[in-house]
Amino acid sequence: MNKKEEERRARLLKMREERLPDIRKQFEENQKRNFNTKSAKKSTKKGTKGKKSTSAKAAAQTAAEKRKVKLSVNTRKGEMVHHQRMLSQDVNAQATQHIIGVPVNKSRYNGYKGSQVTHAQLKKARPHADAVRIIPIGGLGEFGIGKNMTVVEYKSEMIVIDMGTLFATSDYPGVNYMIPDIKYLEDNQNKIKAICFTHAHLDHIGACRHLLPKFSKFTPIYGTDFTIGMIKKQMSELEEDEPDLNYQVVDPFKHDIIKVSEHLSIEFIHVLHSIPGSVAIVVRTPNGNIYFSGDWRHEDNPVDKQTDYERMDEIVKKEGIDLMVNESTNIDSPGKHPHSEFDVGDNLGKIMDHYASGRIIVSCFSSQIGRIELVLKEAAKRGRKVAFSGFSMINNLEVALRAHAIKVPKDTIMKMEDIIKLPDDKVTIICTGSQGELSAVLNRMVTGAHRHIKIKSTDTIVFSSNPIPGNEPHVVNTVDGLLREGAQVIQNGKTHLTNIGPLHLSGHAYYEDHVELVNRIKPTTYMPYHGEFYMLEHNAEMAENVCGISRDNILVADNGDVVELTTDKRIIKNGRITVGNKLYDDANQPVHEAVVKDRIHIAREGIFIVILTISKKTGRLIKTPDIISRAFIYLDNSEELIGKIRHYLRTKTDKSIATDPEMKVIKEEIRTDIAHILYDATGHTPIVIPVINKV
Ligand SMILES: [Zn+2]
Ligand SMILES: [Zn+2]
Repeated sequence: MNKKEEERRARLLKMREERLPDIRKQFEENQKRNFNTKSAKKSTKKGTKGKKSTSAKAAAQTAAEKRKVKLSVNTRKGEMVHHQRMLSQDVNAQATQHIIGVPVNKSRYNGYKGSQVTHAQLKKARPHADAVRIIPIGGLGEFGIGKNMTVVEYKSEMIVIDMGTLFATSDYPGVNYMIPDIKYLEDNQNKIKAICFTHAHLDHIGACRHLLPKFSKFTPIYGTDFTIGMIKKQMSELEEDEPDLNYQVVDPFKHDIIKVSEHLSIEFIHVLHSIPGSVAIVVRTPNGNIYFSGDWRHEDNPVDKQTDYERMDEIVKKEGIDLMVNESTNIDSPGKHPHSEFDVGDNLGKIMDHYASGRIIVSCFSSQIGRIELVLKEAAKRGRKVAFSGFSMINNLEVALRAHAIKVPKDTIMKMEDIIKLPDDKVTIICTGSQGELSAVLNRMVTGAHRHIKIKSTDTIVFSSNPIPGNEPHVVNTVDGLLREGAQVIQNGKTHLTNIGPLHLSGHAYYEDHVELVNRIKPTTYMPYHGEFYMLEHNAEMAENVCGISRDNILVADNGDVVELTTDKRIIKNGRITVGNKLYDDANQPVHEAVVKDRIHIAREGIFIVILTISKKTGRLIKTPDIISRAFIYLDNSEELIGKIRHYLRTKTDKSIATDPEMKVIKEEIRTDIAHILYDATGHTPIVIPVINKV
């Protein structure tokens, strides 16, 4: 550590120590506040429902009494109803983790001095005509990271930054990803002057296929060469004709200030991240300059071109940044990145030396063009050839080649069908599947489903990645499969096993990197974005406690919050807009929330269908009721229960003849009764569907 660094650290530590009493005070204030709000008033409203008893109602009740079948059950109906209610609460909770109405946010940075904003406050909120409005549409406080989208608005001008997807967890059966609901933008179509993209990761451009066609084709779409290339690739996969859009490629090294409307302009600043063509965006507005960090990391000695700190410093010095909107992904990782991408390259080379006689199969994220370049370089040095496998891997490589974002050594890349003819010690394969995805290349190589490669015991498989939280079990499954084949597996983060590592470098800055950047940008006000709620909160704490930004100038916002940058350069929250999610399956088709709820219900309790065929003339059953059970009980093993239900259905139809009720009334009665019988026998309440055919 050099002297300057030591001094900086000492300063930091001292600053933190000095702040400790402040942090304690904050805690005490919060305690007090919580105590005060707990003595909240109790509602004194007394509601008495007006009862309108008509003779028609009474008659209906008597008829229903006549139809009632005594069920031979040991449980009370109330127990079954309670079970149903609990189940439906669980299903709702699982299916709506991302849907935000007015979220709870009592953070001391919430813009309301730590109190929960009320509906009355929101109702009263009117936009200040001369304020610049910053509105996160997605990406803040989500369950998972993704769906990034932010709007900057001034009078009748709007800029949209990023349109990302968020990958759904297994909590959402059959849902592949979600995108932001853009109702607000659709309502303000004519105000949108520009759409800008920070970089080409899917959490920033993944929603383009669904959203870009919704805007005027004349709206300029700004991005770097590689980013626009990736968006075009995505749009070319649309089933409908590819829309003719107004793409504008920006070279961030030209430092152009692009005037997108009367009052707003944008400038791209090159930053390091884990994909080529990443930028931060400076938006100049009448109320000051806003710095959107995009995704970024810091490396002292990068493979890619260094972050354009020079330009950053120039803007800070000449104009200043009034609001910094900074990503939060790795805020919980202490210190700085402990190694560089070059170390990763060296280690990949070491693996090729250690396991020189066999095939080397490297699995990484398909967008990590820089990593791919390192593998190519190390392979070329050793006279190895390289082939690629995986749809997204080959797609991204094509775009990178076209955008000159990758340097490829001569005569190194080969087609898969050709490379397999070479001796093993000449073969290197770069493929997808590092996250253990079932359908990705690596797993297909394990199961033997891959067209060209079947794993053998002389292969060495390298995981040049970390599992994304939630994917760990799938990665384990893939690793187990590889080891069962007798192959050598080398994973990042397990250096002690092979003495080789690290093999991956996260694309996001660590805590101390954030401290440095914020101190460099010296913003007047600060807003964390791109992160789950705890990340935003920890980012805000860093800004206050370490970077010395006053608490009043920091906001932890949620999707939908309207943040105003005022003429006197303060940030305040002022109302909310409607935000939400649209769900999509793996064929890019929309999935309705109600469908997801049904799937969750069926996965947990199953589905039970009874079909009654009744004579129109006599009202009697013509044949034995058909019963279909799926994902619930196996019918062959449940004769007694099925017998009971058939008996119930016969009695019920017999009893219904005299009163001849409406179809929907009788169906509802049957549904409830059968649910009760099934709950009594099994403790579960599947979805019950009665079907009545009158012939
Ligand atoms: Zn990214
Ligand atoms: Zn991102």
